[in-house]
Amino acid sequence: MYDVDSFMADLQRRNPAQDEFIQAVREVVENVIDVVNDNPQYVHNRILERITEPDRVVSFKVEWEDDNGDIQVNRGYRVQFNNALGPYKGGLRFHSSVTLGSLKFLGFEQIFKNALTSLPMGGGKGGSDFSTRGRSDAEILRFCRSFMTELQKYLGPDTDVPAGDIGVGAREIGYLYGQYKRIRGENTGVLTGKGLGWGGSLVRPEATGFGTMYFASEMLSHAGDSIKGKRIAISGFGNVAWGAVLKATELGAKVVTISGPDGYILDEDGISTPEKAAFMLQLRASNNDVVKPYADRFKAQFVPGRKPWEVPVDMAFPCAIQNELSLEDAKSLVSNGCRYVVETSNMGVCADAASYLIDKRVSLAPGKAANAGGVAVSGLEMSQNAQHLYWTREEVDARLKHIMNRIHEACVKDGLEDDGYLNYVKGANIAGFRKVADAMCQQGY
Ligand code: GLU
Repeated sequence: MYDVDSFMADLQRRNPAQDEFIQAVREVVENVIDVVNDNPQYVHNRILERITEPDRVVSFKVEWEDDNGDIQVNRGYRVQFNNALGPYKGGLRFHSSVTLGSLKFLGFEQIFKNALTSLPMGGGKGGSDFSTRGRSDAEILRFCRSFMTELQKYLGPDTDVPAGDIGVGAREIGYLYGQYKRIRGENTGVLTGKGLGWGGSLVRPEATGFGTMYFASEMLSHAGDSIKGKRIAISGFGNVAWGAVLKATELGAKVVTISGPDGYILDEDGISTPEKAAFMLQLRASNNDVVKPYADRFKAQFVPGRKPWEVPVDMAFPCAIQNELSLEDAKSLVSNGCRYVVETSNMGVCADAASYLIDKRVSLAPGKAANAGGVAVSGLEMSQNAQHLYWTREEVDARLKHIMNRIHEACVKDGLEDDGYLNYVKGANIAGFRKVADAMCQQGY
């Protein structure tokens, strides 16, 4: 019989100074402990110990030359966490906050997220403490080449297939793929999020944002409501926030905020025109990491140094980075009448904030369910590459929607509490965990 506290104490002892990893594991273990204790196979096969230990962690040095001719050194990683369901699959994050612990939390989350998509993908994550902020295109190219020169040893279309994440978009994927091809001489789909003309899938750039809105629509219709007319706060201004803004507007909701490290934008007219959405892409491409220019351009309000969770809204979508919505933010959302928090960044809601929201019976979708659309369309990109075919936008979008609806169903099946509250966090954790645990039992240790 397992006990959460003693299991976690042991895990913490073996993984010192990896707080985010510990936080991500604790949430899953708390939710699945009864499922494990009730299943002698899971206990006998030591699934909890095995699923919390990465299959392999690669850490390497990335040397590159900046525009001044100075040599720079960064650290690169790939965490190949679990391949019970398929090749390791998960993004690469280039951000100053990247550490082994943060990539382990992301890789761990990815295992269950990928399982929820029902596509054959294991979980992994990688990246570097390199930041594209203030860097020139030529510097980014040199960094990507150096990074891939080492990483390519561990990749393959049936082994490990990375994609983008924070700081890694179409440009970086292009540079990384170019270098992979140069070294390996293979035109295989070893990265997803590729350009449309060379193996990329339609709808991949929009997929995470579209997926989270499809999931949110299901949440509302399950509650007998609709997303139409809802007032929405979004954080972040990158690729994920952009896709979410587009789909929310299409579904008749009004997004009033986006944010960056410099503060947030409050646009009471809604971030609803094609020009406004296109401007978000421009902001991202500028490498400046600020949103203030949006306020200057569209005469919206800019609130420096603050987060958008103080704005009264019906629904909140954290779309930036882990632990971006604190307990205080959760309290302010609830006191302003917000009833839906849809975690679109990975682990965007702090642990105490999540407990508070669940206590208040606010509908809280975890990232591993709500943001699974991105990796789901990555999986569809792999399918298209394997067939040497392209699918139409309609076909990819219909499959994405179907996958998001199925994930919602899975949450309903395992997340319903006695009082009728739908605990999405628990539902997603149990459904994802079962798939991986069953595969691990069937494949032997
Ligand atoms: N980085 C995204 C995520 O967190 C996408 C991963 C992928 O497409 O492999 O799920």
